[in-house]
Amino acid sequence: MQPDPVFRLTPGKRVLFLTKDPELIRRQLRGELDLTLADLSAPADLLDDINTDVMTPAWVCFHHRPEDLAREAYAGMVVDGERVFPRDALHDGNFEVIVSGQRKGVGSSRETATQAEKWSGIRLAVAESFAPIHAANNVNQGVLMAGYDVLARLQRGEGVPLEELYRDYDPITQLIVQQGGLFPFAKALARGEVTLPRPATARRPMTMAEKILARHMTGVADDARYVKPGDAVVVSVDGGYSHEFTTAQVHYFLEQEYGPDYRIQNPERFAVFEDHLVYADEVRKMRPFLDQIETLRQLQREFQRHTGVRDFSAHDRVSPGICHEVAREQMIEPGQFVQATDSHTCMGGVNNALSWGVGATEYASLVYDGFTTVEVPESIRFELVGALPATCTAKDVMLHILLRYAREEKTLNRVMEFTGPGLASLSPDERATLTNMATECSARTGICAADEKTLEWIASRRPGTDIARLRSQVVEPDPDAEYAGGIHVIDLSAMRPMVAHPGDPDHGVPSDPTNGEYVDQLGDVKIDIAYAGSCTAGKIDDFVFYHRVCKDAVDHGWRVAPGVEFIIQFSSREVEEYARSEGFLETFERAGVRLIHPGCGACIGCGPGVSETTEQVTVSAINRNYKGRSGPGMLYLASPLTVAASAFTGVISEYRPGMFERRLVTA
Ligand code: SF4
Repeated sequence: MQPDPVFRLTPGKRVLFLTKDPELIRRQLRGELDLTLADLSAPADLLDDINTDVMTPAWVCFHHRPEDLAREAYAGMVVDGERVFPRDALHDGNFEVIVSGQRKGVGSSRETATQAEKWSGIRLAVAESFAPIHAANNVNQGVLMAGYDVLARLQRGEGVPLEELYRDYDPITQLIVQQGGLFPFAKALARGEVTLPRPATARRPMTMAEKILARHMTGVADDARYVKPGDAVVVSVDGGYSHEFTTAQVHYFLEQEYGPDYRIQNPERFAVFEDHLVYADEVRKMRPFLDQIETLRQLQREFQRHTGVRDFSAHDRVSPGICHEVAREQMIEPGQFVQATDSHTCMGGVNNALSWGVGATEYASLVYDGFTTVEVPESIRFELVGALPATCTAKDVMLHILLRYAREEKTLNRVMEFTGPGLASLSPDERATLTNMATECSARTGICAADEKTLEWIASRRPGTDIARLRSQVVEPDPDAEYAGGIHVIDLSAMRPMVAHPGDPDHGVPSDPTNGEYVDQLGDVKIDIAYAGSCTAGKIDDFVFYHRVCKDAVDHGWRVAPGVEFIIQFSSREVEEYARSEGFLETFERAGVRLIHPGCGACIGCGPGVSETTEQVTVSAINRNYKGRSGPGMLYLASPLTVAASAFTGVISEYRPGMFERRLVTA
């Protein structure tokens, strides 16, 4: 439905302020309190960094119908062990506006977060800033966004012209808002009721991302393929994928919008993966949802049969691997533009491709049409020099960037380009950690410059691949390309092992990957769980790191520390086969490690390694430490080396070659 040309608050409807004081939220939900902006200091009194796991935790996303999952809106907001939002509280509170602080909707790309608000009656989200993917999901679902100035006027009884709510957007996004969301826009486009603007950017130097988007513009002459940040372009999509957590919604939306006989464009370029929920039955808290999870699996299979997309289903309960790892192994090529329904789709940038996560609505629309619309993002460049010390990995580089650049929002909604001789010194697996964690930086995505290592890595996994063809697709930034976020030189040799600490979310310090701290300044942090795996840290080179530490430890008579569970999980079958062929598994067994077949696990709260109590402490090589995502305990993010070393010492420890020698001497 198209929104009215003037937005007004509806008489009788309410505004909900997500305050740092949870008691104020509870009182608003109970109907005891109605606040206005004048009652608060915004954004200081409002919650920052509300992540999508808080809005719709994993178990809520087991519902694929928006009206069902909306009943559990904000189920992940738990303070002192109690849900701030009981079931139906957002819906029953009769709210139509929801107000928060900075970076609303960080974290995963799950569109369910937007759906939970929309199907609870929210028409307008107000915040100091929004995470990029969440903002796109709001636009696609027809949920309007505004700042505090607009809210102040609305609460004074004024009407605000709709145009004021979209005039800062690119021209195509403006059309989507005017039509009331992505599906109404796509249908209006098909009926010829909207005309798309054509960018007319003159020849200019371009970044890697700009070059890829320019190449993919549809209906544009070859000599007009130039874009600049802010241009709205219609681009073809080379490929993409969804997984069992999201596919059911894609199928559901397509059936609803286009009928049960819908067809998609180029199904051979797209895929489904069974990777996220393979181990859910091993988590006590997930067992009540096993029927819903099975429904999601069945709906994904139905979608795969219906559309003919590539099938990466699990067999005998073993997944072929985490979608992002398998996609970079088998699908993604340099210069491509790839879209998938998961925020770590950015990992594909390691193959010199442009790839980012989108919500189920956007994905459904682009597989149906074969194209999508994009506002060309700004870029920020990281020129890596030097080489990492033996105690550090690419994870430490990202924890450094998160602390020094992302925390100050320098990476916000920008493409993070990684270039330089330091990048060349890293293996493709290590480079993949850089692009994988672009989403933790709230960046649009990450992309690495390609070299022969990149091309050989891809070609060696795909028999018959013409490496010359791959080389012809490579993009490089032009020498004088413009970087709105600047060009930053990072000396890898100056890196030190880091963690991101879990903060104190009940008291206003969010659990956040930007909470960087050096391991040698941490003091003694005793751990209960060491988890090594995920798309970020389950690659072959991560296993080389785990094995290096484990071998050093067992060769000197150490085993995993008493009271610590050390879990290592492969990210793909290829990684598992490599580890087996190299004899790593025997070392892990001697060390007392629990090994798990490929797939997402503890990372999403759906596999072994999830904490069970608030007191438990985990050191984990995964990419995000948002409260509650991997259980109720405290989670420190760290490098594969640090995680493995900590598993043996029982406290968070950086790995230093020779650190285990003492045990052999004293034994
Ligand atoms: S391993 Fe974690 S971050 Fe990666 S795709 Fe799976 S759930 Fe997402």
